[in-house]
Amino acid sequence: AAMHVQTLIIGAGAAGLYCAAHAGPGVLVVDHARAAGKKIRISGGGRCNFTNIHARPEAYLCRNPHFVKSALKRHTATDFLALVDAHGIAWHEKTLGQLFCDKTAKDIVAMLLGLLQKNDAALWLQTEVGDITHDGTHFHVILHRDGKPTRVSAQNLVLASGGKSIPKMGATGLAYRIAEQFDLPQIETRAGLVPLTFPDGAMSPLAGTALPVRAQAARGPSFDEALLFTHRGLSGPAILQISSYWREGEDITVNLLPSSRDPAADLRALRKSAGAKSLATVLGGILPRKLVDALLGQWNLGGNIADMSDKALADLAARLTGWQLRPTGSEGYRTAEVTLGGIDTDALSSRTMEAKTMPGLFCIGECVDVTGWLGGYNFQWAWSSAHAAGTEIASR
Ligand code: FAD
Repeated sequence: AAMHVQTLIIGAGAAGLYCAAHAGPGVLVVDHARAAGKKIRISGGGRCNFTNIHARPEAYLCRNPHFVKSALKRHTATDFLALVDAHGIAWHEKTLGQLFCDKTAKDIVAMLLGLLQKNDAALWLQTEVGDITHDGTHFHVILHRDGKPTRVSAQNLVLASGGKSIPKMGATGLAYRIAEQFDLPQIETRAGLVPLTFPDGAMSPLAGTALPVRAQAARGPSFDEALLFTHRGLSGPAILQISSYWREGEDITVNLLPSSRDPAADLRALRKSAGAKSLATVLGGILPRKLVDALLGQWNLGGNIADMSDKALADLAARLTGWQLRPTGSEGYRTAEVTLGGIDTDALSSRTMEAKTMPGLFCIGECVDVTGWLGGYNFQWAWSSAHAAGTEIASR
């Protein structure tokens, strides 16, 4: 069988569905999964952290830090929120500008499917993408559905099949292969927003312990969020955030007293008020006891805080605020929330997401070398980039 569409979108995830809603007539969205928007459904613990009201260029990793500006500005968190409100989806701000559904992430999927229908776009699930060619004016794509091939020609081809994160959920890296076929340059991919691992058993005694910290990798900003010790290493939002900046062989720095303006002075005050107590007991009052015991053991410190000099307390304060650790690796794509790197933004128009060297080929969402912080920023990139491509296609 053969058919013609105006626009073929590969991937019925966040970016693909949102693009379909805006791309004008003649849209077909295809996906190999059984259901659309699978990652949306499980995101944010089932409540979907669908945007962040502080979405801004600085919250994105991209080789060209200016690239995200145009799309983010033309379709903002407020714009997406207006749509959520118009669909009567109740939401709340959890923390740090992160907006979640009150009820369920399925509300967002239902909204996207409703918008897709309103635009009369077709959605083919359980469809495999085969050979793709371009004859100078049209793309020709072989799709396999119900065991039968369909040859589809399209004016526009939109790559929205996401990254490599969580292969179990259907991630395949297809967009990278198609981009390669059309000679689009790419930035090497890495797992992002992912727990960091440490030598076997190193963190096991502390597993389950959580505390607020300020964490920083050798590059990138610091993040004031929670850290969680696990059997395999470190996790929690603070660690996921810095994992996107961390490179093999580099240390990370953890400030265990992030809310203290002058930790040495705080320790001196504790010496005054609780001098007869052991250092472990005193620190146990401000940090999880298990962590205190592990650190004092490692640093060979003990005794009563009363016996510590100002210098000794200053050294301790420096250690507690500048705890250096060297991860051995990350948990990789198996658990990563996002994929860093991907299709090089140099190859794309920042206004439309269209490939500069291949008119009609658009790249949106996670397959592009744009990765947001944890906290709704990645979905906002999906919405903004999809909107940029969709409205451009509709205007032609
Ligand atoms: P996706 O949503 O991954 O969609 C890609 C689609 O392409 C999928 O439907 C897939 O089935 C399809 N596809 C892939 N390969 C093929 C192929 N070969 N053939 C056909 N179809 C294919 N971000 C936030 O902002 N907030 C959150 O709360 C949040 N929570 C997350 C929780 C988890 C567990 C994970 C893994 C990620 C989370 N993210 C969150 C990140 C967010 O899910 C992604 O940034 C976003 O989904 C990217 O959108 P996308 O449309 O580019 O890709």
